[in-house]
Amino acid sequence: MNDRASKAAVLAVGTEITDGQISDRNSQWLSSRLVGMGFEIDQHRAVPDDREKIITALSEFSGRAAWVFVTGGLGPTSDDFTRECVAEVLEATLEWHEPSWKDITDRLTARGAVATENQKQQCFFPKKSHILKNTRGTAHGFIGVSKSGARIVSLPGPPLEIEAIWRDGLQAEIEKYVFETTAQGNFRPARRLTIVRTMGLGEGALAHGVEALIDRAMVKRAAEGLPSLGRPELGYRAHAPYVEVKIWALATQENWVEQLSEEICREFKDYVVNRNDEDAADLFLEKILVDDRKGIKIRIFDSITRGAILQRLHERAAQLNRSELTEAIDRSVLVTVSLAPATPASPAETSIQVREYGLSVGKDELTLEIEMPDEVSTVNLPKLAQSLRSDRGRKWAIEFALLEWGNA
Ligand code: ATP
Ligand code: MG
Repeated sequence: MNDRASKAAVLAVGTEITDGQISDRNSQWLSSRLVGMGFEIDQHRAVPDDREKIITALSEFSGRAAWVFVTGGLGPTSDDFTRECVAEVLEATLEWHEPSWKDITDRLTARGAVATENQKQQCFFPKKSHILKNTRGTAHGFIGVSKSGARIVSLPGPPLEIEAIWRDGLQAEIEKYVFETTAQGNFRPARRLTIVRTMGLGEGALAHGVEALIDRAMVKRAAEGLPSLGRPELGYRAHAPYVEVKIWALATQENWVEQLSEEICREFKDYVVNRNDEDAADLFLEKILVDDRKGIKIRIFDSITRGAILQRLHERAAQLNRSELTEAIDRSVLVTVSLAPATPASPAETSIQVREYGLSVGKDELTLEIEMPDEVSTVNLPKLAQSLRSDRGRKWAIEFALLEWGNA
């Protein structure tokens, strides 16, 4: 049992997935969070909308993992029967939950729509399950405990709804479990993952430098007569504009890996962007939101990214499911100037006038202006040396700008 306590498994339900129409992003998203909390992922599986296959997978997973996640098939249509399969595995009957019906009707009324009879299907939950509110859609999620003690978490299919449910309660439930089972000595984090995100250095050069740093640290430990903890497992992942160093620590290596990741941050300080799950846009968004309440105005003068920086901020605000952030962006950003950087500009065209503010925006310039009640501050980025014609170059410029501005 104790071995099982720190294991999780994820089942994606949907013929769309097994037929290859969409790829299973939900399992990836959930697993990366669970791994960050110390879980070992026993397995992922995808099955079509097929009762027998769903039940088989859930029964098997419940015997192997303490937490079993299933996504998709909670909707109102006839191909949505995950809840029935889960109830069968839990050996529980489905019970009507009146407050959920109120949530559905309220939600639809607010949009000028009417709930249909088939949506009542979404208000039945296995007896004794814990309901997880979904603020982004009509299907609430739920947690039920199987006879074998596994927690089966049923979530709707749409990724944004999963993120909302996670944030609004699921994460806290899992954290509570991790805390309690750790205190009982049952939860042994398999491996803790640390991610150091860098920008501006190639994967090869970075790996070379990091491996050398680890080699030196191991030699140093030995020279100091400290017991060898083994070499931590390392991995690298490039996804433009970032290159990430991943370091997995066994329980015995945790403190050491913490030190090592700090050393990596020091040695590569010109390239390190952040550690773990931070997003460059978050700091900036928080700044807008908080400062927006103080009545400031933010203007972005952008002749580089063709408006992609705004889109990036919008997407992140949507991912965070924070409509107030989206509204703050819309209210704050008064001007974006988009010059197509791919068009060769004649000298006369290299700057354009934004008359309203009496400012001139140069070619290849990204400027943030923050107007406060009593002062105007401007954060200008130094001329960006990268080739901004490529997608990669523009992505780089966006991340660079967000980090600079967020820290300004
Ligand atoms: P709905 O009420 O929208 O029907 P549902 O809970 O019944 O939700 P599905 O019908 O299985 O869920 O999926 C709805 C949509 O969610 C899919 O069309 C797809 O866009 C997305 N989706 C489902 N599963 C996944 C997945 N594993 N990864 C990424 N997207 C998914
Ligand atoms: Mg559906």
